[in-house]
Amino acid sequence: MPDFDIIVIGAGAFGSSTAYHLSKTGKKVLVLDRFHPPHDKGSSHGQTRVIREAYFENPIYVPLLQRAYQLWTNIEIASGKELLIKTGGLMLGKRDSHVVTGTLESARINNLTCELLTSTEIKNKFPAFHPAKETYGVYEKNAGILFPERCIDAYLSLAQGETTTFRFEEVVSEIKHDSTEIKVVTDKATYTSHKLIISTGAWIKELIADLTIPLQVSRQVLFWFKLNTEHVSNFSIPSFPIYIWNTDTNEHFYGFPDLGNGFKIALHDKGENADPNKLNREVTNDEINTMKSLIKLYFNADSTYINSSVCMYTNTPDDDFIIDYHPSNSNIIIASPCSGHGFKFSSVIGEIISDMATGKPLEFDLSPFRLSRFK
Ligand SMILES: Cc1cc2nc3c(=O)[nH]c(=O)nc-3n(C[C@H](O)[C@H](O)[C@H](O)COP(=O)(O)OP(=O)(O)OC[C@H]3O[C@@H](n4cnc5c(N)ncnc54)[C@H](O)[C@@H]3O)c2cc1C
Repeated sequence: MPDFDIIVIGAGAFGSSTAYHLSKTGKKVLVLDRFHPPHDKGSSHGQTRVIREAYFENPIYVPLLQRAYQLWTNIEIASGKELLIKTGGLMLGKRDSHVVTGTLESARINNLTCELLTSTEIKNKFPAFHPAKETYGVYEKNAGILFPERCIDAYLSLAQGETTTFRFEEVVSEIKHDSTEIKVVTDKATYTSHKLIISTGAWIKELIADLTIPLQVSRQVLFWFKLNTEHVSNFSIPSFPIYIWNTDTNEHFYGFPDLGNGFKIALHDKGENADPNKLNREVTNDEINTMKSLIKLYFNADSTYINSSVCMYTNTPDDDFIIDYHPSNSNIIIASPCSGHGFKFSSVIGEIISDMATGKPLEFDLSPFRLSRFK
């Protein structure tokens, strides 16, 4: 008999949610992580994450998001912690930019209510924003903020129980598998199981080197600034929604209202290639000055740097997720590469992975997330 029914490697956004959903199945589960989650070494730190429903990337994500919202509410109730706040969201760009047209299209296909605002209407409704005349904004009420460290902590705390074992500060170095058993070798022990979930984020390639998945890990920096303006309240809830801005040069940046510890802003375009074991965590003055210029240009505010944090995206060539069985062993499930937009889905992806591992019928079409699309 194997030691466990299911082993989960990686207890970040996806692994912690999966562990929680599995903990309700009665299966004997082992959860491994190389650090002690929640931590600031992977892809799920930095205090806040955007959640929104009218998904400009592709309308196929909307049903997943609707379930994700329900599950975030459930976990808030179960944990008694505030995990999500709704601030509303503004998707900005030229009228024909993909952020504006994609949001409208996603809303149309899924019957969501969104408001298309002109530049003047944006300034009237949200005075902190300083859009050019030709800028439009699509406003959706349902968008808001998730608190990632708190979410992971809530999932892991609620997963704790008789059937779930945690082993943190333990690095998985090798996976051996055949049709009957899976062996997971760590720097401290070897464990066996029937099923395995690999949700190791930016490190995923290390454990599935046999699959030549074209993944790119990129270095992404989050910045916090103090705004030198007398209109601070314009940059806070309820006057300031989360936003994503598609600039005229087709770059993207996004940000959050000031929650009392600074105005957080970041670039959404892929940063330089990174190795998760040698990530450059130094942030340069040039990087800081680029963000200060964005704040000046798009919010007409001077700012003083407070701090920053370096994080990683794990990017697929089409920016869609990977949620699939290992091609040569359906007892192994791979889930993680989420191209910098996966956190908001982690509640529902955990549920899906748990269903995949326990053989429950799946409620969602996962074909866009299959590995076979890269062949
Ligand atoms: C700067 C930034 C901003 C983002 N903004 C948003 C946003 O606003 N909205 C949104 O929806 N998404 C956003 N994302 C994306 C989202 O945060 C990620 O898609 C998501 O957090 C990834 O979760 P994960 O579980 O794959 O990885 P992680 O949370 O990093 O978890 C992987 C875990 O695996 C562990 N691990 C790795 N290798 C091993 C090993 N060999 N043995 C044991 N354990 C191992 C790691 O320690 C880690 O805990 C952002 C990402 C970044 C970096």
